[in-house]
Parts: sequence; structure tokens; C-alpha cells
Amino acid sequence: MNAPAAGSPVRRLADDARMECRICWYVYDPAEGDAEQQVPPGTPFSALPGDWRCPQCDGDPGLFLLVEN
Ligand SMILES: [Zn+2]
Repeated sequence: MNAPAAGSPVRRLADDARMECRICWYVYDPAEGDAEQQVPPGTPFSALPGDWRCPQCDGDPGLFLLVEN
């Protein structure tokens, strides 16, 4: 069991939830991962490395919003 990080706005995301950067609108898709930052396909947003940043604007992942669809 992993305790959620204190102050994190991201809670209980589905593993396949897509997340959108609210600065540049980059969308993180767990099915694709992020090859540039060595994140393999199938990695949930909640399982991204602690030092992961938006690949387009270097924004904090805490700024990402859930894509509803
Ligand atoms: Zn961004």
C-alpha cells in the first residue's frame, strides 16, 4: 500500500487515465508512456518517476488535469 503524497492533487487515478498539462496541453497517455524520459508504455500517471516533468514545458506533474472522455 502506498500512502498518497501529502498535498498531492492527484488521487485514485485509474491506471489508464490520461492526464493533460494545463500549461501546454500535452496529454500523457499511459498506453504510450514517455519514451523521452524512459517511461515504458503501460505506465500509469500515478506511477511516473518522482522527477518526471512535462516533456513539452517542463511543468510539474501536479499541474496535470484528468482528461474526461
Ligand atoms: Zn506542459
